[in-house]
Amino acid sequence: MSPVGGSGHDEWLLALIPQDTGVTTADLLRLSGLSRPTLTDLLARLRAEGAVLSEPAVPSGRRGRPAQRWRRPPPRGMFAAIALTRDDVRVRVADGSDQAVAERERPMNVTLDVRGALDCGLRLLHESLAELDRYEDSLTALVLGLPCPVGGDGDPQARGMMPGWVGVRPGEWLRHRLPGVRITVENDANLAAFGELTEGAGRGRSDLIYIKLAAGLGAALVVGGRLYRGATGLAGELGHVQINEMGHPCVCGARGCLAMEQYVAASHATGRPGPSAILDLFRRCDAGDAAAGRVLGHIGGLLGEQLGVLADMLDPECVVISTDDVPPHPAVLAGIRGGIRRTALPVVSDLPVIASTLGVRAEAIGGIALARAASHRHTD
Ligand SMILES: [Zn+2]
Repeated sequence: MSPVGGSGHDEWLLALIPQDTGVTTADLLRLSGLSRPTLTDLLARLRAEGAVLSEPAVPSGRRGRPAQRWRRPPPRGMFAAIALTRDDVRVRVADGSDQAVAERERPMNVTLDVRGALDCGLRLLHESLAELDRYEDSLTALVLGLPCPVGGDGDPQARGMMPGWVGVRPGEWLRHRLPGVRITVENDANLAAFGELTEGAGRGRSDLIYIKLAAGLGAALVVGGRLYRGATGLAGELGHVQINEMGHPCVCGARGCLAMEQYVAASHATGRPGPSAILDLFRRCDAGDAAAGRVLGHIGGLLGEQLGVLADMLDPECVVISTDDVPPHPAVLAGIRGGIRRTALPVVSDLPVIASTLGVRAEAIGGIALARAASHRHTD
């Protein structure tokens, strides 16, 4: 049992292989971008380890070796995700094939009350296991999602963002309380992106940008079917890109960060300083307030201009937008598309901008998927 901050190296390929329907080798060549010899070697190793199963695909009628279809066996044991977002604690527990699933959620100021949030997560975990008539010792792996960058060692990088979390080691805290359970700590946007990739709006894709625009701005990158975490686990901090050097001071110490400029625009327009300002704009726009629509377009446009730059560099298949527990408003999506068109090369400026299908459940669903994908080496 080794504590792991990141995930197994093969998670990205396993994420492309559904448990139920499976995929053909040709599908995997296309989705992974790997060469045939590299993919063949990797699949042979994963099959030898019991992480994937192969069977002949439906006969094509052609001569030669029959095509193979690959699928994942359901992993053994129970898997859990504790997703801490800025304003709630959400827990999901599932077995290896989603036959038994339980979920719990509590509103809570996670940013201010570190210990309370972790205690609450553990309590909801035990309630969820009890609902399924399972015990703690059935847990194989748990993924904890945090609303701040997470370093390669699994520790939150909270300085300048969530002062109450500086120096806290939630992975160690959980390992102490759940001995024998493999614990992984991950940024919440990364979990949500993995959820959308495996079970949501990004299913079947291999390159996407995930954006969560709610109380703050979270971003995550999926490149070649795998989460791109960067050299030290900090990739995806799009919210702190400076877009106005004379702009408003930000919690990170800089001025005019994208997330802060969006927040200030929403707060000024609604007179409601607070995390609900953008959702309030959604409501006003739906009620026919044209000014609210223009502000949403502006907020989306600021984001879209940065996404256009990213799109030029990464050439993704789509951008998935989540606005928490409500669907993204058409005015904000239109603003994002307009911003992308202003800054991206013409050949990538029609990049599809699509709504999340999992919403607030994306982090917990992604956490379970990540726990399963990374667990195959540890369950034999
Ligand atoms: Zn900032």
